[in-house]
Amino acid sequence: MSNISTELIHHAYQPPDGFEAIPAAVHKASTVIFPTVAALRQRDWKHKTGYTYGLHGTPTTFTLEARIATLEGGTYCTLAPSGLAAVALVDMALLKAGDEVLIPDNAYGPNKTFAQHELAAWGIRFQYYDAMAPADLAAKLGARTRLVWLEAPGSITLEFPDLPALVAVIKAHPHAHPDGIVTALDNTWGAGIAFNAFALGADISVQALTKYPSGGADVLMGSVVTRSEALHRWVHMCHMRIGYGVGANDAELVLRGLSSMALRYAAQDSAARTLALWLAQQPQIEAVLHPALAGSPGHAVWQRDCSAAACLLSIVFKPVYPQAQVDGFCDKLQLFKLGYSWAGPMSLCAPYDVPAIRSTPWVYKGALVRFSIGLEAVADLQADLAQALALMQYS
Ligand SMILES: *Cc1c(COP(=O)(O)O)cnc(C)c1O
Repeated sequence: MSNISTELIHHAYQPPDGFEAIPAAVHKASTVIFPTVAALRQRDWKHKTGYTYGLHGTPTTFTLEARIATLEGGTYCTLAPSGLAAVALVDMALLKAGDEVLIPDNAYGPNKTFAQHELAAWGIRFQYYDAMAPADLAAKLGARTRLVWLEAPGSITLEFPDLPALVAVIKAHPHAHPDGIVTALDNTWGAGIAFNAFALGADISVQALTKYPSGGADVLMGSVVTRSEALHRWVHMCHMRIGYGVGANDAELVLRGLSSMALRYAAQDSAARTLALWLAQQPQIEAVLHPALAGSPGHAVWQRDCSAAACLLSIVFKPVYPQAQVDGFCDKLQLFKLGYSWAGPMSLCAPYDVPAIRSTPWVYKGALVRFSIGLEAVADLQADLAQALALMQYS
């Protein structure tokens, strides 16, 4: 099988004898009972060859882990209670006092906030680098650099970085940490559909399963996938020590979402591109940021490395519109709801103050609004945007 939509539906699952249902069963447990003391002592919880305690995995979570590994083209997967928990898990598994982590300046904001607070308090240094400038990453790599975060595209501003070029800079770095440098990609946008994280050089791929794999805007979960057994062991052991379990009902929701994920990704991709092209022609708008749009930062790299694009786009209004008027535009939208997260069935929007979340220079003066395109009819979404734009006047 070569197509991920087929693979996710026909993925190995052994139902109980005589009960050949399509969905995987939902197993719930804290306690798992052992037949004998010898069995209790022998049960191998480090290698997932047996069940020991609900916190450390059930048949339901092991099935979901196997499917997410397949989706990403990886080998090992560990689930975490949210996408952010998966990011923090990678940090906690790999970093110790005196180490340094490098994070793209345009990364998902809470990845940076975790470094500023918890990692700094634990004696772990951090720096932000410009993901669109491999030379900036080269200049910031140091003898204590242990982990480099990657994200494609950047959060909110959607610049698409040259991941192979960034990975090449890391590989060429002469003063490596004694344990080596690990690259971890936040792959929530690509989601295992737009590109293969490992083929582009990532050692670890993290996803917020909250977004596409769930698709329902009804569950929070994250995953950490790798092809390296050694890296998986670091992550898995830390995961056990900090007690990051996920609930069986939540795992069931993500398993359910996975079978329609490739279709949803394609539909939302197509709708987002239609709206991006239309928005680019509207007189109130200075720029539309979407990696598949010619002229958007990193477009050529996106074209080289990706086969699809996710449902996110951002618009920058002409500077003549003050923030209050842009806020009014968002308030007037009816189908687009105001809220965080993305890749669910309902279209969303939120204004962002980019200079407040970046240290690298930002070229635009106007206000930015980010959209997540849902599964509504694209003509209805366009009409909604048109009515809210029509109400904007020059002040
Ligand atoms: C949403 C998101 C996360 C965090 O996921 P949660 O499940 O909401 O914690 C991490 N990275 C990116 C790029 C995201 O969009």
